[in-house]
Amino acid sequence: KEKENEKEMIWYPYTRFGAAEPVVIREGYKEFLVNENGEKIIDAVSSWWTNVHGHSHPKIVRAVSDQIATLDHLLFSGFTHHPAQKLASMLLKLVPGRHAKVFYSDNGSTAVEVALKMSLQYWSNLIKPRKKILAFNGSYHGDTFGAMAVSERGSFTAPFRDKLFDVVFIDPPVKGKEKRSAENLEKILKDEPEAFASFIYEPLVMGTAGMKIYSAAALDPLLALAKKYGVLCIADEVMTGFGRTGKLFASEYMKSKPDIVCMSKGITGGVLPLGVTTATKDVYAAFASPDSDKTFYHGHSYTGNPISIAASVASTTMFMSDANVMKRITAIGKHHQQFKKTLLESYHDKLDDVRVQGTILAMDLKTKEGGYHFKGRDELYAYFISKGILLRPLGNVLYVMPPYCISEASLKKVYKAIINYLDTTFTVS
Ligand code: PMP
Repeated sequence: KEKENEKEMIWYPYTRFGAAEPVVIREGYKEFLVNENGEKIIDAVSSWWTNVHGHSHPKIVRAVSDQIATLDHLLFSGFTHHPAQKLASMLLKLVPGRHAKVFYSDNGSTAVEVALKMSLQYWSNLIKPRKKILAFNGSYHGDTFGAMAVSERGSFTAPFRDKLFDVVFIDPPVKGKEKRSAENLEKILKDEPEAFASFIYEPLVMGTAGMKIYSAAALDPLLALAKKYGVLCIADEVMTGFGRTGKLFASEYMKSKPDIVCMSKGITGGVLPLGVTTATKDVYAAFASPDSDKTFYHGHSYTGNPISIAASVASTTMFMSDANVMKRITAIGKHHQQFKKTLLESYHDKLDDVRVQGTILAMDLKTKEGGYHFKGRDELYAYFISKGILLRPLGNVLYVMPPYCISEASLKKVYKAIINYLDTTFTVS
């Protein structure tokens, strides 16, 4: 009885009332999750896009257990620790755009909050206040209020709409709309050349929007325009960072580099919560003042947690020292491209816009009632779970985003299940 009651006590995130009972997972290793019956499920979405080296990777397990036995946590103001300094120095070598400072927080939404606040206070500290922020229509930057404000005004944010600050949204430069998007931005900036503090964007892949992909060549002119008007460019690399798009950071594909970068998810290998916001020397310079009003008054109890940081040092070390990691990323991209060809040749009647960016493969199922509320979505999810594969479609958008350690056999199993689903179960309606 007690056990039955326990099942009812959790309020799950992003889970509607009446959804199927959650699957209980007993353990995880490599690309697999193991349920209570000992059955393996391939984690083909990397547990909400976090996992990169595989579950319970021995090197990260070791780093975390060593750290917890040495120093678990400490306040991060007036005190510091070596792992935090080491990670900062590693990240600053890797992040595109010669950044000078690393600010720690706990998750992707807080990394975004920090970036937005930094950009607004930057202008306030310079006594040239700029109050407006630019973002893309359709974007997603997190679930806290500031992050919601710069995200799509859709069903996620509808109950809070009147509480979200105004943001100027422009269309992302998706295929066919590159020129319009740039012209629109130019007009906005020309009209109010000193109004915009920052422009926040998901570089190359807009994840929650449905893995919408646009090109580096299309984003570059927008970034150049923003820079021309002094607008701080904030790259939200929470999802795209740490190899997802084929390079370590998506911002590496563009000539114009961001002034501020947000990271989370893959930063710890997908093992522990950690957010990071990095900034250039110029951004930091506006805060480097003996005037205490210029201080950045932001921090969380668990800012700079040594255990999360130890996981991140271990994970980042693997990216830097194990050439195999980047090779695996490239190999997954090649397999995806190959599979994309098959889908385009044989399933164009059932699919729209099959697309690949690095380790991300996505496709739209042809349906009349598309979008996030596609009715076949739960059936689709259940179909793959019954085949031992975790794919979590975004409405009618089916995508594969595996941990980089995934074996070829597992990847082929995922592709085969997609083919079987299209052949036997999916009908265009
Ligand atoms: N930015 C992007 C681009 C994201 O995809 C997400 C999460 N899916 C976030 C921010 C928010 O991260 P978190 O869930 O860790 O708050």
